[in-house]
Amino acid sequence: MARVERAGKGQSRYASQPVRPQGASLTRDIALCGLLKASCQRLYFTLPAYARCSGNPVTTKRPPPVFIADNPGLDFLNSIAVPVDVKVEWLASGEDLLAWLKQAGLVPDEVLNAFRKGALPGELDAIAAQARALRDWFKPFVYKHMGRPIEPSAVRQLEPLNQLLARDDEFGQLVVRDRPNKRDHGHGGVSGLVWRRQRRWQSPESLLLPLARSLADLVCTEDFTCVKACEGPDCTLLFVDRTRSRGRRWCSMAVCGNRAKQAAHRKRAQQAKRSK
Ligand SMILES: [Zn+2]
Repeated sequence: MARVERAGKGQSRYASQPVRPQGASLTRDIALCGLLKASCQRLYFTLPAYARCSGNPVTTKRPPPVFIADNPGLDFLNSIAVPVDVKVEWLASGEDLLAWLKQAGLVPDEVLNAFRKGALPGELDAIAAQARALRDWFKPFVYKHMGRPIEPSAVRQLEPLNQLLARDDEFGQLVVRDRPNKRDHGHGGVSGLVWRRQRRWQSPESLLLPLARSLADLVCTEDFTCVKACEGPDCTLLFVDRTRSRGRRWCSMAVCGNRAKQAAHRKRAQQAKRSK
């Protein structure tokens, strides 16, 4: 739980646990940025042309963020997208990042509020920039590997992600298992307790860790055969196809699915007109 406190030497402003010296953290940040940049440049050219669309994304008067991927890691990658014609950035600032993490359900509200109140000017904006760097580095990896299972050799490309994950302060707690009927506790051979992961939120930098974890879960637990990009010609949204027939083609039937239907209808009408 984040707690805003006056920082003493070697103390976090957000929690009572001691934090690493700032110099060492900065060195790691620079090293990570270098690794992310180099890997990004290597992987960038594996993106399909439509995913490299240029131009500044819209950062104001945006539609709500999209959570259509059926996977938190892919939802994070979809936090920049071209849902309808225009590229939209949902992580343009520190406040954007807090709002997105809240909607994604990745960070407890009280932690987000503590960071909002306690962060130094520009501190959260800098973390949002690191989140965008992480996202933009990782997205080409997905484009490169989607459609087939992840090979063990892929771990080499994910070294920067492992470096980020190594900073995590995760621990576990025993808590009461949620059940619809409280009288079920202790019955049916299932324990009434469950192991729940928690995290010490040492500094705003720790907001990157649930994002990194969502990407790690994506590569370790999802079948990449079912990871797809929307077939909409200008759409950049990614998702997991969980349909039984593995026939999902669109981010949403209401947007790209409908557009494809209309385009097919227009094509048929034109062909019918020509053949008359
Ligand atoms: Zn789409």
